[in-house]
Amino acid sequence: MRDRAELVAITELGQAFEHGADIASDNIQSWGIQLEKAWLTSEDDRVSEECWENQDDGWIPYDNPFTSGDYGPLRFPGCRCTKLRRRAR
Ligand SMILES: [Zn+2]
Repeated sequence: MRDRAELVAITELGQAFEHGADIASDNIQSWGIQLEKAWLTSEDDRVSEECWENQDDGWIPYDNPFTSGDYGPLRFPGCRCTKLRRRAR
């Protein structure tokens, strides 16, 4: 992380993105369409151990927590992970 401004920008953008996508996902599920989710890391040497474990969970039911206990990114300021969503099989 280069400096505090970058950390804040990455964190705020990530939270805004996840929040918007969660609202859209909630709407879709309210129409009776079941979703599942997966944790996607940046896959580089700065990814935390718990984020890797969450990614290893693969696709899980949308309302379940990941291994870390979190329901989705971001786990901490500077977490660059995102959540993938798709229709449940
Ligand atoms: Zn992360």
